[in-house]
Amino acid sequence: MAKKWRILPLAVCFLAFLLSAHPVQQPPREHKPEDIIKNLVLVDKPQPVPEKVKSGFESITARDSVIMLRYIASDLMEGREVATRGYQLAAEYAASLLSLWKLKPAGDKPEMTAMAMSGRRPSDTPPSPPERSYLQEFLMREVTDVSTAVTLEIRQGPQRKTRNFTSGVDFISMFSGAESAEAPVVFAGYGIIEKQINWDDFKNLDVKGKIVLIISEAPGKGNPESPFEKDKELKEKYFPPAPVSPFARRGGGFNKTREIARLGAAAILQVQNTGSDSEMLKGMGPRPVSDERPIINKPRRRLLLPGSRAQMPWERSPVITVTREMADAILESTGQKIEDLKERIDTTLKPASMELPGTRLTIATTSTSSLVRCRNVVAYLEGSDPTLKEEVVVVGAHLDHLGKWEDYVFNGADDNGSGSVGVLNLARAFAVNPEKPKRTVVFCLWTGEESGLLGSRYYVQNPAFPLEKTVAYINMDMISRPYDERSLSRMARMMNIPVDHEIFKKVRPASFLPVSFSSGAGLDEILRSANQAIGLDLFLREAGETMERGMGGSDHAAFASAKIPWVFCITSLHDDYHQTSDSVDKVSAAIMEKVSRLVYLTTFALADR
Ligand SMILES: [Zn+2]
Repeated sequence: MAKKWRILPLAVCFLAFLLSAHPVQQPPREHKPEDIIKNLVLVDKPQPVPEKVKSGFESITARDSVIMLRYIASDLMEGREVATRGYQLAAEYAASLLSLWKLKPAGDKPEMTAMAMSGRRPSDTPPSPPERSYLQEFLMREVTDVSTAVTLEIRQGPQRKTRNFTSGVDFISMFSGAESAEAPVVFAGYGIIEKQINWDDFKNLDVKGKIVLIISEAPGKGNPESPFEKDKELKEKYFPPAPVSPFARRGGGFNKTREIARLGAAAILQVQNTGSDSEMLKGMGPRPVSDERPIINKPRRRLLLPGSRAQMPWERSPVITVTREMADAILESTGQKIEDLKERIDTTLKPASMELPGTRLTIATTSTSSLVRCRNVVAYLEGSDPTLKEEVVVVGAHLDHLGKWEDYVFNGADDNGSGSVGVLNLARAFAVNPEKPKRTVVFCLWTGEESGLLGSRYYVQNPAFPLEKTVAYINMDMISRPYDERSLSRMARMMNIPVDHEIFKKVRPASFLPVSFSSGAGLDEILRSANQAIGLDLFLREAGETMERGMGGSDHAAFASAKIPWVFCITSLHDDYHQTSDSVDKVSAAIMEKVSRLVYLTTFALADR
């Protein structure tokens, strides 16, 4: 029996933070109650579902959802980590069901093997073209045994001093595409450029190719005179309120280190604005638990699409969080300590950036590489219109999760067994519904989401149907945990709406569902109308700039970056997120049914309009 203790692998935590390979609640742009009201879709009395889509609709049930989920999230699947036996089992299970329901495979075309060719006599009738597979297979570069060492060298006149720093003790290195650099070091204060308040830590400072030492957050924390505290927007940007989940990215997508990486920094070293060294290590390391359960660091493993050394531009610069002690050692040539410099910036409210003469750092990361096989599951239902069937609507969810470590299995029932079942629910619904939509519907289960949206990115690079003909992508990632009073008020706080505001009196927490979507494709209306038959308390969130650029969240990001309109459904975040306690006994089958039905009607409408 697999152990179900809560552990937090360090690598996973960083992954969630950095690659944002996870559904993170985007901080909404809405702040005014009237905007919220406008975006809330409350249905007094659900309408009967139209006859045309009824059979499919009714085939989606809470009962069947949980039956499928029990298998996908069982210990046998060993946490469905990308490129493992457990994942392959789950993928084969999905492929069997798709085949049983007579969906067409849209995975790899079989290759004509030499053996098949030689076994054929010239008189034989030519074989009918062999069927495609349900699996779309591709190779990934797997990087393991990652170890980072940092060496400091300070030259002053004829003297040369070196010092080595240890990972996990002096610094914590984040997950990124490249982690080696050797360059001079500069100090860039808080590393901020804010033109409207005339703040520029990089003025007269050349950071191109340099290693940049900065302090996190912004100057003058808690000081009402600080421009970063005075201005509401800046305050939110640099001192964001606590996120809805301990793993959610702070600051709504704004990441200072990414901006510095864009300036051409070779690497970024960051000292925490507040807190002691030991607090920093504790905070960045495995999440503390209140009892004597063990803390285990799962070894780091990284997967990359071959040929892509770093996935995103900002990942090309290593980001390392360093202790104050290490920062002081780096600053030695200036005769100042990090606390003095911070104090100076905080009190004068002026930058204090400078070069550090004679100071060089070497960041060296070693690792082992190999190739592994990864598989998406792809099936489709052909559209009924002779012309419009060339166009497709894609529905997807990631099937992979965090795997296991020794006896600890991350079952990932909500994340994202639930969304995977959602896709299977839809595949069957479309198959059994006598009426088919005009356009083709493609059903995808992605691999490698937890490692950086790899499966969906691969698909977008190698689509089963042309992207130009792909009219929309609908994503389900974690659809089995309904909101409750507590999570709803957390959401309210995040939106700066008083919890006792009349808006929230109307909302039933267990029926609350935020749905994000891209603007401009009429998705708002389709979602509103689909919900008439379901009666969820929908909260429609038209996505902002960051999501349009495909930078956040889950697998819809890959489609967003290809400019394909998208919809993203996610239920409440919870404490079991990325824990071994994300198990099937905690899910609500009722909400899975409702979300699946909503997505079914939305997809049907999109494919049939
Ligand atoms: Zn997920």
